Amino acid sequence: MGSPGGGAADRPRRIAIVGAGPSGIYAAEALAQQAETPVEVTVLDRLPTPFGLVRYGVAPDHPSIRSIRNTLERTLDSPAVSFVGNVEIGRDLTIDELRRHVDAVIYAYGAATSRLLDIPGHELPGAIGAADLVAWYCGHPDVHPGEASATDRASLPSLVETTRRAVIIGAGNVALDVARILIKDGADLTTTDMADPVLASLARKDVEEVHLVHRRGPGETSFTTKEVRELGGLPDVEIAFHPDPLDLPAVLDRVRASDKVAARNVTEFLAWQAKRPGAARKRVHLHFWTVPVALLGSDRVTGVRLATAPPGGVPAEHEVAADLFVTSIGYLGQPLPGVPFDDETGRVPQVDGRVLRDGAFSPGEYVAGWIKRGPTGVIGTNKHDAVETVGALLHDLAEDDPPAPPDPRPLTALLADKGLHPLDMAAWHRIDATEAALGQAQGRDRATIAARADLIAAADEDAPPG
Ligand SMILES: Cc1cc2nc3c(=O)[nH]c(=O)nc-3n(C[C@H](O)[C@H](O)[C@H](O)COP(=O)(O)OP(=O)(O)OC[C@H]3O[C@@H](n4cnc5c(N)ncnc54)[C@H](O)[C@@H]3O)c2cc1C
Repeated sequence: MGSPGGGAADRPRRIAIVGAGPSGIYAAEALAQQAETPVEVTVLDRLPTPFGLVRYGVAPDHPSIRSIRNTLERTLDSPAVSFVGNVEIGRDLTIDELRRHVDAVIYAYGAATSRLLDIPGHELPGAIGAADLVAWYCGHPDVHPGEASATDRASLPSLVETTRRAVIIGAGNVALDVARILIKDGADLTTTDMADPVLASLARKDVEEVHLVHRRGPGETSFTTKEVRELGGLPDVEIAFHPDPLDLPAVLDRVRASDKVAARNVTEFLAWQAKRPGAARKRVHLHFWTVPVALLGSDRVTGVRLATAPPGGVPAEHEVAADLFVTSIGYLGQPLPGVPFDDETGRVPQVDGRVLRDGAFSPGEYVAGWIKRGPTGVIGTNKHDAVETVGALLHDLAEDDPPAPPDPRPLTALLADKGLHPLDMAAWHRIDATEAALGQAQGRDRATIAARADLIAAADEDAPPG
């Protein structure tokens, strides 16, 4: 690669990445690991901490998956990469301000809200999106503003603490995560890294029934078999199927040749079905070919009307009692001010990672991860995705050799001008050490600090350790 026209070849190219989740960090890694184009990479996040949904989505009782964080951390600690936390792009800094300082920007800001269902009663307290519940049990600062919220009847802690029966709409792994966290005994979660107030609420909860509601059949779920097995193995929990009886052998015959994962899942379901009902105190109900049609209740959800239409069967409606209604039918991206956005898909329009503005490529703008391709795949999928985007970016830099950015000062100067208080990797390591000390004092590996003010206090150089 060269710089035939611009004469700027020796100048490191400044790349800003918006979002320090897996896709942003994998993009930083792909940039840092190549030697042809010298780069200075800044990964910005609105939160004081990096790692996106690895910290605030992946289930706290799945520590081995959460430990991917250690690999991501090494990239943020590498010399060509800087982390700037606690700065929200689009609010603290506009896209235009950011772009004046850099040769290129990669949007990797994720898709962190829930798709919701517009059915009668959806506005009742007790009806929530899975993203909010997940954010709460993972200790996300947006839903842990401080002590005051815990007194609000409709606050997440009080909803969880007063739930006996929950209905979850959806048949993917997030729905299974939510079901498992709700039905598990609080005592079985005390070794996780959940924040103290979350553990306290989960210890007070007494969920006896969870209804998982899926609009399609048992051969058409998006569960992974490992998570299905985990649910079936929970102590003191029985699984019931609806409609009942459910001809699972016929479903297995149908999917065996065409879909290996579905066949493995149905095989698990068959094993559960074969178990004689025992004396378990808690129950997970799996409803197939079923959709919610209305929420019942006047000042809080008290039940859900479900409509079931099995293939070849008679459609019917029935009601189940519920104090909590969780919609888990997918995550949704939101527009970021100044960035092109497709409302239909909930994504930034792009081809091969190059952002489209008004249908044409926008020089210097790229996109990666969930906000590029939608909320699909596993964490590793974001790596291939980010590598594609970085490939396009490096190719364009070499081809176009763009002039230096209009504002030559480092980004830190702009952040200081704006009176912002960015947090760097040293600050993260202080938070990390405080979380480890907090957890170890309680006999667990670490304890998440939830409230933003507490994270910022832990990041403070002058704060006493632990
Ligand atoms: C509940 C749940 C459980 C999951 N469990 C697993 C699992 O067990 N295994 C697995 O492989 N995958 C799992 N995933 C999927 C995995 O988390 C995603 O593939 C991955 O996190 C997507 O990465 P991302 O970087 O695109 O988005 P994110 O991880 O969401 O990161 C986006 C980052 O951008 C930041 N941001 C947003 N807006 C701004 C802004 N305006 N300015 C600055 N920063 C901003 C956010 O704070 C966030 O840190 C799970 C997902 C969810 C939701």
